[in-house]
Amino acid sequence: CIIYKLMKAEKKQFFFNNINEIKGVGKKLTSYFKNKRIEKIKDIIFNFPYSDTDRSKISKLDNLEIGKINTIKVLVKKIYFPRIRNLPNRVICEDDTGKIEIIYFNSREGYLRKIFPINKYVIISGKVNFYNKKYQITNPDYVTTIENKDYVVKNIPKYNLTKGINEKKYRIICEQAINNLPKIRDWLSDQFIKSNRMIGWNEAISRLHNSDDSKNNQSHSFRRLVFDEICANFITLSKNRKRIKRKKIAKSFKKINSSRIIKNLPFELTNGQKNALEEINNDIKSNERMFRIIQGDVGSGKTIVSLLSIANVIEAKYQCALMGPTEILAQQHYNLALKIFKGTNFKIEFLSGKTDTSKRKIILDRLKNGDIDLIVGTHALFQKKILFKKLGYVVIDEQHKFGVKQRSELAKKGGDNCDVLLMSATPIPRTMMMSLYGDMDISKITEKPLTRKKILTLSKPEKKIDELWVYLEKQINIKNQIFWVCPLIEESKILDFSSAKKKFDLINKKFPNKVGLIHGSLSKDEKDDVLKKFLNNKISILVSTTVIEVGIDFPNANLIIIENANKFGLAQLHQLRGRVGRGNKESTCILLFKEGLSKNSIQRIKILKKSDDGFYIAEEDLKLRGFGDLLGYQQSGIKTFRFADPLLHQDLFKLAEHFILNQNENINEKKFDFLLKLFDKAEIINVNDF
Ligand code: ADP
Ligand code: MG
Repeated sequence: CIIYKLMKAEKKQFFFNNINEIKGVGKKLTSYFKNKRIEKIKDIIFNFPYSDTDRSKISKLDNLEIGKINTIKVLVKKIYFPRIRNLPNRVICEDDTGKIEIIYFNSREGYLRKIFPINKYVIISGKVNFYNKKYQITNPDYVTTIENKDYVVKNIPKYNLTKGINEKKYRIICEQAINNLPKIRDWLSDQFIKSNRMIGWNEAISRLHNSDDSKNNQSHSFRRLVFDEICANFITLSKNRKRIKRKKIAKSFKKINSSRIIKNLPFELTNGQKNALEEINNDIKSNERMFRIIQGDVGSGKTIVSLLSIANVIEAKYQCALMGPTEILAQQHYNLALKIFKGTNFKIEFLSGKTDTSKRKIILDRLKNGDIDLIVGTHALFQKKILFKKLGYVVIDEQHKFGVKQRSELAKKGGDNCDVLLMSATPIPRTMMMSLYGDMDISKITEKPLTRKKILTLSKPEKKIDELWVYLEKQINIKNQIFWVCPLIEESKILDFSSAKKKFDLINKKFPNKVGLIHGSLSKDEKDDVLKKFLNNKISILVSTTVIEVGIDFPNANLIIIENANKFGLAQLHQLRGRVGRGNKESTCILLFKEGLSKNSIQRIKILKKSDDGFYIAEEDLKLRGFGDLLGYQQSGIKTFRFADPLLHQDLFKLAEHFILNQNENINEKKFDFLLKLFDKAEIINVNDF
């Protein structure tokens, strides 16, 4: 059954046709398919079988497996059509060893008479039951003539289906797509395919549907697809990068202010900080727009680096914007900026959703007139009404909290001359770096300030929780502060709240008026209120789910207790732990566990006790949990692959990186456009955003 005779030019278009162009796919099926995110023919092509149904053997009626799918060849003897509602139609069939009844509810007489001709042999396949001492098949999957036997009697691929579409229906549709798949000229050369022991695209797709290859993520055909997907991702980012790194007017400065500030700092910059600052300075001075991310563990001192670079941009007579993901964090940055820039004549203001209207109006005017050098704030800075006279530099902290769209929104305000710096404390495993940040330049700060005290990490079984109270009391008496982290119960704010609330009640009983509670159902303002109380030392213990912000400095907090610590991934535990140890006191992290830890959990504790290096921990996390389970990463938008797995396909990531770099910056647009469209990359990242 052929859908189209394809002209050459239409070949590739075939992949992007809507599925309703396939015979038999009407409005109803289209809407069912939509639930499975199958909308175009390529979506059917990428929906691979996950297993198969064995219908390959014809069984005799005295040798049926009850409860299983059986295929039989039988003679049709008689059909009963009871004229009473709710009673099924029954077809009596036999072979030389016995009898069977085929049962139909809601089937029309004409249809049954047609597919069950009396005294003819038919092939039937379906699940066999034994009822009233008789074999039965109810609503069989297939009934066909002997001539058509080969269509049924074989291993039939099993697809992930959705309500309203059964195997038979899907098969008819899928086969139309797969069998009519136009042969595409491969974008990889024969030589490349051969020397990397891959197979061609056309062969790969066909094998993925017609063999066991789709069930093995290391099969040649699966790996071929994975390679293509990684390339599509890399190419998109590389295209993005080209757009972003447009020409700009170079900014010139002599580091007059930044050098003086560095001299007056109460500490020495680490080498990592110095290098990052130098890289940023060079970018700002160059005639290409900067799009750079500083990756550094919690406490590695990213903020000071960004402020020093801001001083240089202000010296070059441009305005700067520094943005934090929350009110408190932004406020903290603002206070730090005021402190650091004390000896300068920089004009610095703060703007958030809470800034009152009259003040806001004045600030907006001053921004427009160029009367403010540095504006610090929350995403209130994104708003359309906010105009700058000469914005030259945007710094965004904890960038993963901002969508691609938001971060481009701000960069656009500065027009062509705006440099962009992102800061992130989420350590990314090396294999994922390029696929996430391939469009950016990366400055890594791997070391921490020497003054930083190591955090002592301990583990304790939860049943010994009572031993903690005395310890806590001592801490409170010497005015230390404590984080108490309750496990986050996924997808249930209510459960989440009730577990945290219970803990709060318990602790509050022991230490009345010294405890605060933060949970997912609080509004931003309510959260900020509690956090401020904690920050100003009005309360000593903060009970919370994981909603406490990553970047906030609580210099006085030096004990964190993490309950049910095996519920968290390694990277998450490390992030949580990083919330203490920001002041000059010794800090401690206590991991509370339920009895009976898995091997994996024990390994995690070991790693945490041993290392304080976020990058190392991220790698170990990936190894222990596997890519598919990295929930934290999923949330931060890192899970951008459908087939590729940065852990299982590490070699292909490396190969693709190499391959793309060797395309010599001249990625052949035509050749790869199809690839990008196939993997939906063209739509995910809208290059015009930048
Ligand atoms: P993060 O990278 O997590 O954003 P911050 O910039 O908030 O880290 O810095 C954490 C703390 O370390 C701040 O109190 C900051 O003043 C301090 N700090 C930054 N750099 C150094 C350094 N080189 N030596 C000592 N302390 C530093
Ligand atoms: Mg920070």
